[in-house]
Amino acid sequence: MFEIVFLGTSASAPSVKRGLSSQMVKHNEYRFLIDCGEGTQRQILQSGLGFKHLSHILITHGHLDHILGLAGLLSTFMRWETIDEMNIYGGRWALDRIHDLLFGVVLRGAQPPMKIMLHEIKPGVFFENEDFTVSSFSVHHRGADCLGFKFEERSRRPFLPEKAETLGVPAGPLRRDLVNGKTVTLDDGRRIRPDDVLGPLKPGVWLVHVGDAGRTEGLLEVCREADALVIEATYLESEADMAQQFSHLTAKQAAELAVQAGVRQLILTHISRRYREKDVLTEVQAIFPNASVARDFDVYQIKQIS
Ligand SMILES: [Zn+2]
Ligand SMILES: [Zn+2]
Repeated sequence: MFEIVFLGTSASAPSVKRGLSSQMVKHNEYRFLIDCGEGTQRQILQSGLGFKHLSHILITHGHLDHILGLAGLLSTFMRWETIDEMNIYGGRWALDRIHDLLFGVVLRGAQPPMKIMLHEIKPGVFFENEDFTVSSFSVHHRGADCLGFKFEERSRRPFLPEKAETLGVPAGPLRRDLVNGKTVTLDDGRRIRPDDVLGPLKPGVWLVHVGDAGRTEGLLEVCREADALVIEATYLESEADMAQQFSHLTAKQAAELAVQAGVRQLILTHISRRYREKDVLTEVQAIFPNASVARDFDVYQIKQIS
């Protein structure tokens, strides 16, 4: 299961109710901050997430409404909080600007309080462990190297402890070997196969996050059958010309992508102050009913329907 906590859902400038772009994706003890608009550190505090485990920060692109909060975060870490390292992942253009911001403006020759690593990523998997992978893909927006992110749980066969109990497999390394697909031999000589204690394959869930985007062409494949798609909707269709001019999407375009890709759930963010939330919701739900408009501090759990 992934959980996504929206920390800032406003486009370009904050509003009274919405902070600038940022969200946290959680999977067990892992946390990935996606974008870090100005004011994100206060949103992190208010959400109750805190600064621990904040060592992976993914950046969709280098526009200021998505990166300025990194300066404040680092400034705070220089005084009070410490994390072991800060890994920032993004395209070249975003990282160059972040480098200027952190090393040129905030640090200015001072020693950072932790290792700061800027990882340039290209489309493909850039983080993986035994439970899930995180990959990036290209997104068309103003500026080069804009990225979206896909969080993909690995499919797995659940361990059935009651079966292991009945067969007399003791807790510990033997059960671990069975989970890892190895046949084991018990003290009494009986051989137990993984099939004896594992249930049917359960597909993992997928969460796709698209930041600012000027068009949906090219996103269909990566979004296909995602359990949840989080995507910007800065404009309404009534101002589609302006959306195109500034390389943003309308709620209708986001909804059409969700329909074509056959996603299960659609969550819109990067909402402009120029619209009422209910108008955005009306436009999107007319085309894709299982859609919502994220608000700051909203939490969504993306899990398998059982
Ligand atoms: Zn933006
Ligand atoms: Zn942008």
